[in-house]
Formats: sequence, C-alpha cells, structure tokens
Amino acid sequence: MLPIELLFYEANSKQKTILLNIPNDHKVLFETIGQVADSMNQQVYVVGGYVRDFYLGRLDEKDITDIDFVTVGSGIELAAAISRKLGTSKISVFKKFGTAQVKYRSLDLEFVGARKESYRRESRKPIVEDGSLKDDQLRRDLTINALSWSLNPDTFGVLNDPFNGIQDLKKKIIRTPIDPETTFDDDPLRMMRAVRFAAQLKFKIEDETFKAIQKMADRLSIISKERIIEELNKIILTETPSYGFELLLKTNLLEQFFPEMVKLQGVDIRNGQGHKDNFWHTLEVLDNVSEVSDDLWLRWAAIMHDIAKPPTKRFSKSAGWTFHGHDALGAKWTPKIFRRLSLPLDDRMKYVQKLVRLHLRPIALVSDEVSDSAIRRLIFEAGDDIEDLMKLCRADITSKNEWKVKKYRNNFDQVEERIKAVEEKDHVRNWTNPISGDKIMEVLNVKPGPVIGNVKNEIKEAIFDGDIPNEYDAALDYLMQIKEKYKNG
Ligand code: ATP
Ligand code: MG
Repeated sequence: MLPIELLFYEANSKQKTILLNIPNDHKVLFETIGQVADSMNQQVYVVGGYVRDFYLGRLDEKDITDIDFVTVGSGIELAAAISRKLGTSKISVFKKFGTAQVKYRSLDLEFVGARKESYRRESRKPIVEDGSLKDDQLRRDLTINALSWSLNPDTFGVLNDPFNGIQDLKKKIIRTPIDPETTFDDDPLRMMRAVRFAAQLKFKIEDETFKAIQKMADRLSIISKERIIEELNKIILTETPSYGFELLLKTNLLEQFFPEMVKLQGVDIRNGQGHKDNFWHTLEVLDNVSEVSDDLWLRWAAIMHDIAKPPTKRFSKSAGWTFHGHDALGAKWTPKIFRRLSLPLDDRMKYVQKLVRLHLRPIALVSDEVSDSAIRRLIFEAGDDIEDLMKLCRADITSKNEWKVKKYRNNFDQVEERIKAVEEKDHVRNWTNPISGDKIMEVLNVKPGPVIGNVKNEIKEAIFDGDIPNEYDAALDYLMQIKEKYKNG
C-alpha cells in the first residue's frame, strides 16, 4: 500500500502538488518565503528531505527540525530578507559555502544559492560556482533527495522531479541522479548516505549504484570519522539495524572503518562440529536489543559484545569450540575502537565497556547452587546498568531451537528474581563501604597508606561473602576483630 500522498500524486497527473496535506504553519511559511523571493526576482524552492518525506507520508511521524531551500541567486541575501520579514534576527551566515541559516520558532531554515560544484580528488570540499536549479539538483546525492517544490506565487507547489525521484520512491529504490561513480567520487560520504537512507526507509539500493559503492568503497578514506559515524549511528538507530549492516558489509563499506566487525564472519568446522557465524549472530542480537530499546549505547553494546571472539577462538575434542576471555578482551578493545571511530570516550564508552565485560556473567548465575555472594558481586559491578545488562543477555539468546530459547529465557527469569530478592535484602547496587578510610586510620592508629585499601577490601569481601551484614555496626565489629593483623602496616 502506497502512502496517501503518493496515491494522491498518481491521481494528479499535472505534477502540481496541492500543498494541503502539510501542516498549516509550514504552508504559511512557504507562502511568505515565496513572496519575499518573488519581490527580489528570485526563484525559490523547498528541496530535499522535506519534499521526500511528504511523499512518503513521513512528515508527521518525524520531528521536523530543518527545512532546506534553494534559490537561483544569492541564498544569503534571500535569508537576510526572510529573517527581516519573519521578524527574527537569528541568522547565521556561512559565506564560504554561500549558505545561511535562519532560526524561526523551532525550525532551522537553510538557504543555499543554486550551485554547480566541482571537486578535487583528495578532498570533499568543493569548488563552488553559481548555477541553475538543474545544476543544483545534479549535485544532490540521491534521486529521492533531489525533489523540489517551487514556492514563487505563480508556480506555488509545482513539483520539480528531474530524475524520476517519485518513481524511485514508489519502487523503493535508492539511486544517484547522475552516473553513480561520478556522484560518489565527488563526495564519498554519499555512499554512507545511500546505505543510511536505504536502512531508514527500508529501500533497495539499485544495482548500478550498489556496484559503484562496492568498487569505490575505499574512497571513504578521505571522509572524517565524525561524518562516517554520524551516518553509522543513524543506521544503528533504525528499526531493524541488521539490514543496514548487511548493506555495509556487502558494499565493502564496513571494512573501511570497522574491520573487527567484518572479521566476525565465517564458520570453521572441526570433527564435524561448527560454531555460530558471529557476524550474523551479532546482528540478531542487535535486532533483538532494538526491539526493546531505542538507546544508541545499548545497541552499541550489542554490536561490541562478541567483537573479540575471533582471536580467542579455540577447538578441543573435549570442549568443542570455545571463546574463553572474549568478554575481557572485548572490554579492553572498547576504548581503542571508540577512539579510532571518534565515538565518545566518556561514561557512554564506559557503559558499553561494562556491558561487554559482564555479558557472560548472568548466564553463569543460572543454577540453584549459585550463592547469594555471586549475585551480590554482579549487582555491585553492574550498578544501575543491571537491567540493561539483562536486556543484552536476553537478546543474546539466538538459538533456532524454540525449546532452547524458552528454557534459557526461563533461566533468566529466575536469575532476575534472585537479583531482585538479593538487592531488596542487601542493597548492594550502589554499594559504598560502611567504614570510611578515616575510621580505619583512627582504629588502627596509622597514617594514610596502602594498608587502608587492604582493610577496606577485606571488609568488602566479608560483606559480599555474606559473613557479616552490610551495616556500619557489624562492619566496625569486624574491623575490631581483624585489626591486630594490620597494626604494623
Ligand atoms: P534527514 O534530515 O531526514 O536526515 P535530509 O534529506 O534532509 O534527511 P540532510 O542531510 O539534511 O538530509 O540534507 C538535505 C539535502 O541536502 C538532502 O536531501 C540532499 O539533497 C542534500 N545533501 C545533503 N548531503 C549531501 C551530500 N553529501 N551530497 C549531496 N547532496 C547532499
Ligand atoms: Mg534535513
């Protein structure tokens, strides 16, 4: 079923879009912009995402924050006139690029003068010249992003669709307006954008365009990591991120910036025993997590959880395939990979690192014989992220065998119940030592030194082992008992 706007468009063969289905405040704004441009003898169009999303029926589900306009003439002068007319002084001018941005209510209105661009091979910074509307549309990344509506009064609402973008919207196809190799050579970031839009819109990348990306993927090397990651994070935040990653893998783009993930691919067989393909397993876990959470960093934890499996892979006759230590090694890799990808190195990285490090622990707690002590330690180490850790662990169950999946889920239910019970009883989630360093110095009559840490640790172990309750009085009694041992430092 096509979105209502596309059906409407089909019925309306004159290519005139009657702008009734857009929010009224946008319509009034567009009329104002058209009138101002007309009085300056300039053509003005709304272009790109807004027009595309209108035909896809996505305008209301998306929070519109920016609208792009192109004018034949000076974008900066038009923006200045429009900001005066709208009574806002919030305008930013980027002279070098010939663009200006007007802030109006909650919207960023971006104005650009229609331009021709030519590029040098070593940089994506274009040499810009003035051009016609057609020149401007030629330099756009995708046919579906090159649609525009005229806003001048006598042509208000007329659609310009020079590359059959509407048809591609209907056929759900990602395609470049001109020869894809030229489009991608001019700005290799467009290859990431092609995959990103395919992932967001659930479109297919047309064959020629796909092949051009495969061929030119290594040109991504001139693009900054920040720009690549901005697109990657948008892919990760789509409804079914596995689709975007599958495209990144098959277009050869993924290996340009994230080779560790590509190396997860493949299955070895020994003595008739195979293991899971960890690339596709990781994507299943990512999709599973995405069903229960929109959090970018929990999704990153899913991407990273098995990242260190390849170098820890072993086979033995007795144990079959094992990946001992991939959790600890993955945690060690996390800051390195985050730094290389220009991802943040603050608490968000530490959160991902923690979940990678702990992702096997809840599974180890699936047994009646597990002591409260082991549960307390996990609650303490995971802290407030324990619920997210459990979400990741549940997502990590990807067996094809439904009976197994049921059994594992059931096990996790039990672990979660025990976590709840232990936490209610012992309050170790945000645990701090009931005895302070000062108190230890006073009781032992010693100066600051390593001994304080050792004593603290012994108290902590006693509490976590359940030898003493998690209370000040009990801990102080315990300190009195052990103090002789530490008297001489
Ligand atoms: P959204 O904002 O929903 O992600 P959008 O289509 O508005 O999608 P923007 O990045 O805001 O995307 O860009 C606005 C328009 O500018 C695009 O629709 C496209 O026409 C053009 N554009 C943006 N980046 C490029 C690029 N790297 N190469 C060519 N054209 C581009
Ligand atoms: Mg936009």
